[in-house]
Amino acid sequence: MEDKRNIGFDGRVFLEEFEWATYRRRKPVRYIKRAKLSKCQWCGLPESPGNPLQNAHVISFDMGVIELALTPDFLDSSANIVTAHRRTCNKGSELSLLESMKRLRALGVTQLPQFLPSWVHETWLETSADSSTCSDPSGAMTV
Ligand SMILES: [Zn+2]
Repeated sequence: MEDKRNIGFDGRVFLEEFEWATYRRRKPVRYIKRAKLSKCQWCGLPESPGNPLQNAHVISFDMGVIELALTPDFLDSSANIVTAHRRTCNKGSELSLLESMKRLRALGVTQLPQFLPSWVHETWLETSADSSTCSDPSGAMTV
């Protein structure tokens, strides 16, 4: 099972800039290890002959690598995999960019890599305002 050619990212959530630059030239491969569950985590039903279950990424693999510079290891980890019906539930279980950012915040991520484009950082700041439970009526920035 262990392939010495895939040495991984030492548990890192984010890519280094040079790694990200490489993956923008050519996408990495998906490598989901987690076994499928017996029921869909989206609708709660078992698979049927015409609609099998499959493991799907919550934060989409391509968006995670390219827009957010997440490591393939993180994207393929159990925290980011759900079992869902291939035909009906797979797309519904995949988050938008904004939702993906909120999920990262919920997982404790406080900062994106500086090398990401400014529009990504602007979107990231939007999720900060959304998820803030402490609203200051004066509108002052709280750090
Ligand atoms: Zn389903």
